Amino acid sequence: MPRRIALFTENLSVKALARLQYVLDWLQSHPLSDASRFVWRLNPTNGAFDVALHYGVHGAVFMPSDADLMTASTSTPNDLICQAFETDSGKVYAVKNHGTRQRNHFFENGTFGFDVFATLFFHLSRREEYQSDAGSQNPHGDFDEEQSLLIRSGIYQQPICDQLAVAFFSALGLNVRERPSTILLSHDIDHLQQWKSPLGALRYLLWVSRRHGNLRAVPRVLRDAWAVWRGQIPDAADTFDWLLSDRSDIEKNIFFPVGGDTVFDRFYPLGQATPVLKKAREKGYRVGLHPSYAAWKEPDIWSRERRKWENWTGEGLRHSRQHFLHFAFPETADILESEQLEVDHSLGYRNHIGFRCGTGFAYHLYNFSAEKPYRWKAQPLALMDVALLREIDFKQHQLVSEWQNFFEKNRSNTCLSLNFHNTFFYEFELQGWPLKDLYLEMFARSPH
Ligand SMILES: [Zn+2]
Repeated sequence: MPRRIALFTENLSVKALARLQYVLDWLQSHPLSDASRFVWRLNPTNGAFDVALHYGVHGAVFMPSDADLMTASTSTPNDLICQAFETDSGKVYAVKNHGTRQRNHFFENGTFGFDVFATLFFHLSRREEYQSDAGSQNPHGDFDEEQSLLIRSGIYQQPICDQLAVAFFSALGLNVRERPSTILLSHDIDHLQQWKSPLGALRYLLWVSRRHGNLRAVPRVLRDAWAVWRGQIPDAADTFDWLLSDRSDIEKNIFFPVGGDTVFDRFYPLGQATPVLKKAREKGYRVGLHPSYAAWKEPDIWSRERRKWENWTGEGLRHSRQHFLHFAFPETADILESEQLEVDHSLGYRNHIGFRCGTGFAYHLYNFSAEKPYRWKAQPLALMDVALLREIDFKQHQLVSEWQNFFEKNRSNTCLSLNFHNTFFYEFELQGWPLKDLYLEMFARSPH
């Protein structure tokens, strides 16, 4: 018999109630809560419940309600801070307008220290991204992640919503057993050739030398480019022999673009990718679409690419990841809704590794104009190869320790979606960085 949790609330506006229900549903369907173990009873009129939680109304157990945070439509992230609260096993973080100096306990004497629901709503709904203005956008026109509350607070490398869910369940007597984190592997196949011509190789050399501030790549690129043109070795982007993982115990996705004509797209004739598609399927990968840079706000482009992808693969499209993680709130979210997509894999950082949505698990993003969740799910992206490079600010000696720390910190109670391009390993290798070794150690074969 599931535990029945009665939630007593003050009179809530329709908007507040819709948002509260969204968070309650997220908690109940959270992979770390066994969904059958508890059900919510909102303002029950009889005593048929096991635990009572008083949200903003007097009673035991009590949680303060922060209606402003839950329903605000104007407050900018710069007004907000993340404040630490202590639990028996560590810390959780509240989103607040201001901090207090006293020692903060998450749950003490039947009282929660802050509004857990409003904090969860803030992160999961991506309110700060919906409400961002031109001043908080990066050159690509989307939200500048450096201005996000989690990055400003320096707590983006831990899944703070998942941690908060666990602390909340424990406070209510629903003990959560520690579970190893789920790993999802994916690849974006942005292009199939590192250099298409001798001039391309020179351009690449200039670019890579400037990016890393050294000339280390010069002899190797010249030697490799020569050997590629003579047909002696495969192109540096042709890493599929070892990139496509044999592991059968994890979910694997591969995303192909089918078009794109901005300077940020490097599209190839689709037929050239057919052998990779075939090989990925043989290895048990799910195939998805990588919509082009311009598709993010253009439903027509998105649909056209979808049709082309479906013709090429012969399947119905269910999963996608935006190229450049170019995702607009709410335009891209609305396109995914009308396209009836199942899962989008775009919501990760471009320059950091960690949890942009505060959770590693797939969940329904919030549709603010309809005040209800979207039907499709966002599968947050935790680590992308090129973002790892930027996270360590191109400091070679930090690569292995950053990698190890991140996986060690997050070895349990979350989900880690990882993105490795077929093309970036070469750049790491040119600098003598062992990304390929780290990758193969993790993905070459299923652990037994
Ligand atoms: Zn891409």
